[in-house]
Amino acid sequence: MIIAANFKTNHARESTAAYLDALEFFLNTSGIKSDIRVYPPFTALLRGDLYPNVKIGAQNFYPAINGAYTGEIGAQQLDEFCIKNVLIGHSERRIVLKETQDFIAKKYTFALSNDWEIIYCIGEPKEVRDNGFEAVMEYLWAEFDGIDINYQNLSVAYEPIWAIGTGVSAQTEDIAEVLDRLKDKLKSTPLLYGGSVNTENLQSIISLKSCDGVLVGNAALEAANFCKLIQIAQK
Ligand code: PEP
Repeated sequence: MIIAANFKTNHARESTAAYLDALEFFLNTSGIKSDIRVYPPFTALLRGDLYPNVKIGAQNFYPAINGAYTGEIGAQQLDEFCIKNVLIGHSERRIVLKETQDFIAKKYTFALSNDWEIIYCIGEPKEVRDNGFEAVMEYLWAEFDGIDINYQNLSVAYEPIWAIGTGVSAQTEDIAEVLDRLKDKLKSTPLLYGGSVNTENLQSIISLKSCDGVLVGNAALEAANFCKLIQIAQK
């Protein structure tokens, strides 16, 4: 089971270190052995090997080892922090940062060539959801253009855009329908759900047959709450 916390543009160095200390202590003392991932902002990155029970990942990167890409972070910089897992395709990068499918596919191919673990995010906007399930699936499959789905270090996060950060999660039946259809094609690739997951709705989401984990934003911003989510996911 994968339980991942996406900090987005929240937390700074001190609070991230305190968060990771608390999380590592919780995982150590509880003996929980899930695949726990945390994605802090770049300025708060800590060496991945300092926390044996947590995988620290990058929310973003530029698909180059290094070079003339002002303001960007490449593989050389992530290597220094032993970062080996990344988010790609998050809707905030697609929409707010205007990343195209073509660029996302370049990032994906670069991550794959580095053997990084990838959580690849897909999700439809509200107007597509309003057109029904087949319209949703057509939209989601288009987000796999240029993506090698046979990559062994891939997990896919289904995150309906209208459910991210809104406090309104998708209905469990709708999540199940999408994850089941994705599973048919993606076979053993772990599938996550993301979009307003919290301590109230996690149990019913994580119990779905095709759900292998969750990607959480707001409800994971406090270490104590993230630990609570991890605990609930064990039941
Ligand atoms: C996310 O950013 O991936 C996310 C799912 O956020 P939230 O849990 O706040 O909806």
